[in-house]
Amino acid sequence: MSKTIGVLDVQGAVREHLLALGVLGVIAVSVKKAEDFDALDGLIIPGGESTAIGRLIREQGLEDRLRSFHKEGKAIFGTCAGLILCSTDESHETDDLRLGFIDMEVERNGFGRQIASFETSLDFAGIDQPVEAVFIRAPYIQSVGPDVKVLATYDDKIVAAEHENVLVTAYHPELTEDYAVLNYFLDKIY
Ligand code: GLN
Repeated sequence: MSKTIGVLDVQGAVREHLLALGVLGVIAVSVKKAEDFDALDGLIIPGGESTAIGRLIREQGLEDRLRSFHKEGKAIFGTCAGLILCSTDESHETDDLRLGFIDMEVERNGFGRQIASFETSLDFAGIDQPVEAVFIRAPYIQSVGPDVKVLATYDDKIVAAEHENVLVTAYHPELTEDYAVLNYFLDKIY
């Protein structure tokens, strides 16, 4: 049976993820309401603007359902702003939402403004070929807890990691035709 993967649809690169998932032959659905989570095998929290996504998650009453989905052990993939939302990031000084799904501290917009957006290829643990990665005002991961597995670095900065059912990348995997990392996520599901 095909896997059903949801893309959290409050702000950001939702359509791009739905299109990429469609190419991979899974059932891809937009997730706007708490009840939309019930049918899912996995969820992608897309890139976009983490402050806006966090605010909309709260306003639309989705925070509890996101947390219970995580507790159920369902697969979650946070990309770029989605990575920021999955972090613990205890040192951040705002009350922006942090779900704490992965024990890691992040540096928002960590690659600076001059090179805010760029494309590169990265070695990724568990994937044989280098993967294409598009960074757009991307964060990087400053530090990870002892149980977190680092999957990729760029310029000595951690840009992909996983812990149990949660995978995060600082870049957008859905904006290239290299689907290796999305497939890596789908392989986590069964
Ligand atoms: N800079 C954005 C943030 O801090 C993330 C950018 C992205 O998701 N492409 O939320």
